[in-house]
Order: sequence, then C-alpha cells, then structure tokens
Amino acid sequence: MAKRVFSGARPTGRQHIGNYFGHIMNLIALQEEYECFDCVVDLHALTTVESTASLQQDINDMVLDWLAAGVDPEKSVVFVQSHVPEITELHLLLSMVTPLNWLLRVPTFKEKVRMHPENVNYGLVGYPVLMTSDIVLYKGEMVPVGEDQLPHLELAREIVRRFNSMYGDVFPEPAAKLTQFPMIVGLDGTGKMSKSADNHLEIASTPDEIRRKVSTAFTDPARKRRADIGHPEVCNVYTLHKMFTPGRVQEIGSECRVAGIGCVDCKKLLAQGIVDYFGPFRERRLELQSRPEYVREVVGHGAERASRVARETLREVKAAMNLLP
Ligand code: SF4
Repeated sequence: MAKRVFSGARPTGRQHIGNYFGHIMNLIALQEEYECFDCVVDLHALTTVESTASLQQDINDMVLDWLAAGVDPEKSVVFVQSHVPEITELHLLLSMVTPLNWLLRVPTFKEKVRMHPENVNYGLVGYPVLMTSDIVLYKGEMVPVGEDQLPHLELAREIVRRFNSMYGDVFPEPAAKLTQFPMIVGLDGTGKMSKSADNHLEIASTPDEIRRKVSTAFTDPARKRRADIGHPEVCNVYTLHKMFTPGRVQEIGSECRVAGIGCVDCKKLLAQGIVDYFGPFRERRLELQSRPEYVREVVGHGAERASRVARETLREVKAAMNLLP
C-alpha cells in the first residue's frame, strides 16, 4: 500500500512562482506515488492574521491554482483543515502530553514574539502541537519539508514519541521527505519570493502583467549601462531563465558576459518564457473558474474523505487515553 503523505499550506491566495516550484510541483509529483492529504491549514493562519476578511477568497484562489496546475482531487485528498473538526480535539489532547518548554524554545516562536510582541497569543505557542495533530490525525507517514523545516518535524516526532510512550503505539512517527525544488528569489533579488515582500509574480497573471512585472526585476548590479559586461551567475533573471527558457540559457549567459545582450531584451525573453510556460495553466484555470462551485465541491469531497480517517484516529486516541466509557 502506498505510504501516506501529509502536506499543509497556509491559505495565501493566488500562488506565485515560488509557491509553484516550492510546493505545487511537489504536490503534483507526490500524488503519483503516495496517498496524499493536501491540506489548507486555515486554523494556523489565525495565529498571526490581523483580519480574516479575505480568508475564504484566499482559500478558493489557492486551491484553484493547485487544481489548475495539476493537483488531481481524485488522487489526492484536497481539503481545508477546519472542515474536519476532529483536528481541534486532537490538538487539545496532544497539548496535554507536550511540555511547555519544548514549545517555548522553538526558534520561529521566538522570532514571532520578537516581530509581533503585541500579538503573542496562546495559539501561537501551541502551533507545533497543531501541526503535529494535522499530521497524525491522518496517520501521515511522511511530510514534505525543506531543510529549514526539519527542526519543526523533529519536534512533531518528539511529541509523537512521548504520546506513544505514555499511551501505546497509536501514531506512526512521521518521516521527512526532503523536497528537491529550489528556493526562488524574489524579483527584487533581495531574498525569498513572497507576497509580504511584494517581490512576487503570480502564476495566474495575464501575459501583460507578467511582462510588466518581469521588466522591474533586479539584475546584475554591476551592469549599469548597456555596454557593461554582465555576470549572469549573480543575476536573478538568469536563474529564472534556467527554469523558463532552459534551451537558451547557455546562449544568454555567454551573450551577457560580453554585453551582447542587454537586460531589457533579456527580460523580454524571460517574460515570454514565463507566458508560454504558464499558458496551459492559465487556460485550465479559466475553465475551472467558469464553474464557481467547483472548488467548494472539491474541498467538500476532500473533507468527507479526510473525516473518515480522522474519526477513526480520534476514536483510537481516546481509547488509548481511557477517555471512552
Ligand atoms: Fe541578467 Fe540578462 Fe542582464 Fe545578464 S543580460 S545581467 S543575465 S538580465
């Protein structure tokens, strides 16, 4: 039987090319080999969100992008975290076995306290317990993570080990499935592509939007005039060419080094590569968008499938903890 993989992602709305290469492509690849539970973790979003006004729209837009890109709801269980209420009960039960000092030492918690001292809520410190609950409620055996997320998964494994040692072997210890996809640098060249840094390019952008955004991309800072020779290895536009125009990368690199191509033309080529790459995706997205109920149906069906597993797991947990009469 195929191993079960749990992937959670916060509802961030329309997806950008960093999300596409870092997460969506992974979901598409994994569904061919594993039993995948692809979850939109809306409750996690509440730990830091200032307003929930756009939450439903963000969920809809994100799932629409997943589906248009190739996530198959017949193969994968695509669902929303809060639509399976058992998650909150398991979260409470696991919180009873998790020592507070394990949670207070988590680096991302410390970082969030530093960044948002006015909003250190109870949910924030319990975030790793909720994350662990997400994985084990569905008996997830593997979790796709980048290297930077390994400590979080290790904490989840510690919580699982502690529960199993206290109440018996109910949960499998989830293993990391290290993702292969590269980190995408933002168009401003300063760090990871993200919406909060406003350096992103949405995959559902129109061709005109793609051209306009790419034209603003940061290039080799040493190349101030058209006649200056370039250094493609430090240029983010060149890195993106490797993904979107792989057949022309060598030529572009060589031309850049002798100032044979200018940055304006280089970016036009890249923009066209991105327009072409996402052409079939845009068509499919428009087609799915014309069926307004489609995303709701997919996540409704996903919640039913996920609930069946969740109810059984919770029954086992309560039995192990002597909570059943
Ligand atoms: Fe970057 Fe292209 Fe300009 Fe070279 S020509 S610096 S690869 S944008």
